[in-house]
Amino acid sequence: MSRFFSKKYSGLTPYVPGEQPKDMRYIKLNTNESPFPPSEAVVKAAEEAIRHGELYSDPECLAVRRALADRYGADIDEVIVSNGSDEVLNFAFMAFCDEEHPAAFPDITYGFYSVFAEANRIPYREIPLREDFTLDPRDYAGTRETLFIANPNAPTGIALPLPVLRSIVDSNPDRVVVVDEAYVDFGGESAVPLIHECPNLVVTGTFSKSRSLAGARLGFAFGQRELIRDLDTLRNSTNPYNVNRMTLAAGTASLAEDERNRENCAVIAENRERAAGQLKELGFRMTDSRANFLFASHPRIGGEELYRSLKSRGILVRHWKSERIRDHVRITVGTAEQMDALASAVRDILEELT
Ligand SMILES: *Cc1c(COP(=O)(O)O)cnc(C)c1O
Repeated sequence: MSRFFSKKYSGLTPYVPGEQPKDMRYIKLNTNESPFPPSEAVVKAAEEAIRHGELYSDPECLAVRRALADRYGADIDEVIVSNGSDEVLNFAFMAFCDEEHPAAFPDITYGFYSVFAEANRIPYREIPLREDFTLDPRDYAGTRETLFIANPNAPTGIALPLPVLRSIVDSNPDRVVVVDEAYVDFGGESAVPLIHECPNLVVTGTFSKSRSLAGARLGFAFGQRELIRDLDTLRNSTNPYNVNRMTLAAGTASLAEDERNRENCAVIAENRERAAGQLKELGFRMTDSRANFLFASHPRIGGEELYRSLKSRGILVRHWKSERIRDHVRITVGTAEQMDALASAVRDILEELT
């Protein structure tokens, strides 16, 4: 820390993204990216857009917002786009929480929520999930806190049924509930249609996981227009050109090929079920994941050791040291070949233990 660093941030522990090592070619199953590249049409659209790169991007992001609104059956002023959904999640912390209105979220969830809260000096409470990592909706009824709920959750992959989510939203009419749907396309049920009936609901999504555009950085949020206007106030107060021209074009093109995207998600869901079967046969326990990853533990090997052993065999998975989940690893679902390689590496590792 330099002596110039603002005291405001001196205690801040930043979010640590999954590693992206360059020392060799790994099978990358650690950051939930898509194993499929973007389509030719999406690449072409981005290429075409850089031809006009001397001009600023559209600060209103009209084309992609129109396409998103059409895709989700909402109005254009009920959607905002952002530089990855991390950005709009940060805007939501800024817009809907403060000293008097703390944030709350599960103890096991996306690690960035606590960092957003801390960076914005917002008090927060972590609500423990049950022993099996399911969420007890009674813990979220009428809390009077701004709630952040990833659905499906990460890193557990467990999804909440829409009526349960709805009951949580309805029980907190005076606070905003933010539902983070980064993984919804792999088997969850989107809450976006609920925005028409729920004036306190914000639903965020991303092109990073199911749409093969993690590197383009494109996220979005849906909500009633007043909520979206609040988020837009933060956007225009920090970075009105938050989404670049190439990404806007790529996102719009991606929405024009929803069918292809759905097929990719179906393949990943199929690979997930197959890989889960292989790992179960090897003695793993897993949550019921509706996402593009598996959250697995094994009675004979700790999470950290498994992570290290896989890394030395050229396969990256994600491990956290925090108490409740240190026995687990999170494994991104890739292609069938990648999942076969994983299963065979795990088999070798377990055999070497005896
Ligand atoms: C990946 C992820 C995000 C953010 O992704 P972006 O790339 O910033 O859009 C948000 N929430 C959860 C739970 C995630 O896993």
